[in-house]
Amino acid sequence: MGSSMIAENLNDIKNQIHLAEEKAGAKKDSVRLCAVSKFHPAQDVIDAFEAGQILFGENRVQEANEKFTEINTTLSGRGEKSLPELHIIGTLQSNKVKKAVAISSCIQSVDRIELLEEIEKHCSSLGKQISVFFEIHTAEDSKSGYQDETELFKSLERCAKGDFPHIIPQGLMTMAPFVEEEAPIRKSFITLRKLRETVNEKYPSLPIKELSMGMSGDFKIAIEEGSTMVRIGTAIFGKRDYQ
Ligand SMILES: *Cc1c(COP(=O)(O)O)cnc(C)c1O
Repeated sequence: MGSSMIAENLNDIKNQIHLAEEKAGAKKDSVRLCAVSKFHPAQDVIDAFEAGQILFGENRVQEANEKFTEINTTLSGRGEKSLPELHIIGTLQSNKVKKAVAISSCIQSVDRIELLEEIEKHCSSLGKQISVFFEIHTAEDSKSGYQDETELFKSLERCAKGDFPHIIPQGLMTMAPFVEEEAPIRKSFITLRKLRETVNEKYPSLPIKELSMGMSGDFKIAIEEGSTMVRIGTAIFGKRDYQ
């Protein structure tokens, strides 16, 4: 997609986010936009960055690493001082954690305690702190995320005990079902918001404030239900070509 189209889409999405914030009684710019660039080329990210977008999300570590190495080289070569920020948002295999923590500032898709252990190990050896979100399974047709609250609580318990000093647990993330009707989508988002309340009561020492929910098709509903971060790909970069 051309740079002017990406800039226009970003502007359009930001306006829609502002309207949704207003409708939800949230402060202007309180909802952060994560631009999901998976399957789109480095140049599209650079175009979005030059239009003012800082935060990007990628699903696959290998793709993200190649793309963002290229992006950062290009931007540094032009004398850019600040570089894009990257969040990993896709299901993460343990053998990809080392690379994932090296290239990102946040793993949004933590779905098991073993992943926390792996993240801690690699961040500790890098001397780096990283943010994490816990991905929660809230919709029947999705496979990813903690399926079971007791498993989530076991992970949070370990965080609260101080077992993971290089990990900052900042939020919860979910994907709503891919359906037409609004009700099940909204239900998914409400589930996540209520779970954050439970988590804040049970683990008051953990800084879990963020709700990463809402994608191209449902971000307005998500913001109405209290989203603090929307992850939007298609509406910014166009359809993905999975070939
Ligand atoms: C691909 C993806 C998105 C973005 O989806 P769009 O519908 O293109 O906006 C958001 N979150 C996750 C976890 C994704 O994998």
